[in-house]
Amino acid sequence: MKKLTIRDVDLNGKTVIMRVDFNVPIDKDGKVSDDTRITAALPTIKYAVEKKAKVILLSHLGRPKGGPDPKYSLKPVADHLKKISGLNVLFVPHLIGEEVKQAVKNMKPGDVLILENTRFHPGEEKNDLELAKAWAELADIHVNDAFGTAHRAHSSNVGIAMFIPSVAGFLMEKEIEFLNKVTYEPEHPYVVVLGGAKVSDKIGVITNLLNKADKLLIGGAMMFTFFKAKGIPVGSSLVEDDKLELAKEILKQAEQKKVQIILPVDTVIAQKMEAGTESRVVEIKGGIPDGWMGLDIGPQTIRLFGESLKDAKTVVWNGPMGVFEIDDFAKGTKAVAELIAKVNGTTVIGGGDSAAAVAKFGLESAYSHVSTGGGASLEFLEGKELPGITSIADKKK
Ligand code: AMP
Repeated sequence: MKKLTIRDVDLNGKTVIMRVDFNVPIDKDGKVSDDTRITAALPTIKYAVEKKAKVILLSHLGRPKGGPDPKYSLKPVADHLKKISGLNVLFVPHLIGEEVKQAVKNMKPGDVLILENTRFHPGEEKNDLELAKAWAELADIHVNDAFGTAHRAHSSNVGIAMFIPSVAGFLMEKEIEFLNKVTYEPEHPYVVVLGGAKVSDKIGVITNLLNKADKLLIGGAMMFTFFKAKGIPVGSSLVEDDKLELAKEILKQAEQKKVQIILPVDTVIAQKMEAGTESRVVEIKGGIPDGWMGLDIGPQTIRLFGESLKDAKTVVWNGPMGVFEIDDFAKGTKAVAELIAKVNGTTVIGGGDSAAAVAKFGLESAYSHVSTGGGASLEFLEGKELPGITSIADKKK
């Protein structure tokens, strides 16, 4: 079902309440240290401003414990938005009540008003409908542009849609378009690349995408659970010992479904997970010696993965191939990022660590889509219904 977007509604003279994701890092001096998420929301905000709407913005920041905490105030975000956008940005340090109503009343078309951190209200994360109603009463239309919270039913994204129509912003629209494509309508050959620390985090994605993918490439610490399940010595590599049966089951299912699971053939090992420590490359078939751990995929594996990716028409990648935070063990992740960047087809990078990795390598613009939501993109790929997407109004057929 297609969702209504901000383009489908008349905004002229209307008041819009927009849920954005301004969950950005704030440095010691109280300044925004990375404004990627703010600039990402700008096209939707500017569109509403150009259509002469009054724009109220809602966002959470960090994890305050259900009450105000100055450390997580959105004031620095408001200051930053004002500086970079040239818009008339106002801020009220409240979420509901007279001050907020008055501030909205004083707004002129094209003004932008940021309310305080939504999580300062204990009702937000409980999807409190009184709170949702109080917000809905401020506006005519709700715009949802916060994909990162789409897997959560909160007052600011889900509850509010019970009182006024909710439509998707441009960021949300793009997330839905690309995640839909790779989850439900991929072009073949379809290659799924998974890495990261744990099999258990990715099991839902594996189970769902085994019904769609042609090949599943596995890297990251996750590979060692598969190797141990196959009886290969893994030294002191990170392994989930309680998931060995699960790994065997996945291999069996893949065989039944005729999906090729491609596991690494070599790995970079070290005795410590530290920069500058002695490291070497070993073949998997010989096992990993005691006292050593696998921290990245090796050069033969990079070539092997490259063969699979070469002709792919759809690629999804979630989870780094090694400990990419340490440069000595980032080569595999970087190489895979570059291989996927060269694919002539739809390429989608999951949020969280994989998004951080492609940003580290300066490759963000080389893919069809880099998701802004870690947890939300995983749940989408698992085939789950996301409450923060269900709540957006459907387009009539
Ligand atoms: P995830 O959040 O599950 O995608 O896991 C990402 C984390 O897995 C990153 O912090 C990586 O450093 C870590 N990781 C990837 N490969 C390995 C490995 N071989 N050993 C230990 N940690 C790893």
